[in-house]
Amino acid sequence: MTSPHRRRSARTLARVAAILPVLALLPAAAGRGADPPPRSVAWSMRTMGTYANVTIVTADSAAAAPLAMLAQRTLARVDSLMSNWTTTSEVARLNREAGAATVRIQPEVARVLDRSLSTWRATGGAFDITVEPLVRLWGFLGGPRRVPSAAEIDSVLPRVGARHVQFDRSAGTLRYDRSDVRIDLGGIAKGYGVEAAADSFAAHGVRDALIDLSGNMHAFGHPPGAPYWRIGIRDPHDKLAYFARLALSNQSISTSGQYEQFIAADGRTYGHILDPQTGWPVQGLISVTVVAASAFDTDAWDTPLFVMGPARARALAKANDSFGAILVSPGAGVDTVWVEEALRDRFELIPEAQSRFVVRWF
Ligand code: ADP
Ligand code: MG
Repeated sequence: MTSPHRRRSARTLARVAAILPVLALLPAAAGRGADPPPRSVAWSMRTMGTYANVTIVTADSAAAAPLAMLAQRTLARVDSLMSNWTTTSEVARLNREAGAATVRIQPEVARVLDRSLSTWRATGGAFDITVEPLVRLWGFLGGPRRVPSAAEIDSVLPRVGARHVQFDRSAGTLRYDRSDVRIDLGGIAKGYGVEAAADSFAAHGVRDALIDLSGNMHAFGHPPGAPYWRIGIRDPHDKLAYFARLALSNQSISTSGQYEQFIAADGRTYGHILDPQTGWPVQGLISVTVVAASAFDTDAWDTPLFVMGPARARALAKANDSFGAILVSPGAGVDTVWVEEALRDRFELIPEAQSRFVVRWF
């Protein structure tokens, strides 16, 4: 499995993976008469509005196939709970009912809500699941994508703000204090799904595997013949498949990019991550990568770091030991890649990218 192949097939997708495993190592030759050596076996699946790739290191691909199905079922369950694209999900039901009455929440949705609200507090409101009316106004939910007028944005802003969300963790209930509040878990649900799939793998004793849901990835152990998984971070300009690589083992990584979904208008591009204060798509960074123990953590942090912009994002990452960050700031021809010191040993800017990116450590 080489990256050019992945790149070509990925181009046909509406939303392509922001990070990709670099599986350059070939399995060692089988010894005569011995058991076949373990090799990386990959399964692709459509789920959560995008693609997932599950790679399991195994000597017996038939025995590993049910694990891939397990990951698919887990992701499908999370999607059926948290999708904002259907009217049948648990989140859609909450959005219909919680403006009028106190409603009980399914436990996994409660976990994601709890985490979303603590991230809202920890980021000074940069991560805010009540952006839903703004996401819809800009056409990122259901479309058509367009730049709304300032008056339209102003009319929606009073509905936005997690202060309107009354979540009782011990009772497992939710109530909005305005009837027109809506939540969107799109900034965190994929990471939760990958964590849930990773937990199910751990419960089945999986040691070496990669779960990759469109830019949200968990790496177990290592590939055959190498101590780490080498994960490519997508080139925000798409001139290369990836501009840098990170060596990971038993960790998660998420990359979020403004190139994933955007509106091009008036010579500018507007991405799908919105500033809950202003109602406008955030400017300043073009790619954010987070490395942490779980995919739930990495996805929770990548979106608010985007909103906070390069200086505040660096300060938050530096102050928080539970994750490491890589931030790309655009420049005239040469972008700056801010890499947190804690990731220095594992980060590599690939030679072909060195004329377009300069690395600064923080
Ligand atoms: P993706 O892999 O989908 O790009 P991200 O983690 O970058 O995932 O989340 C982007 C999504 O988060 C948007 O599509 C939208 O649904 C939601 N979102 C946008 N702005 C915010 C925000 N400020 N806080 C929380 N969620 C947001
Ligand atoms: Mg996120």
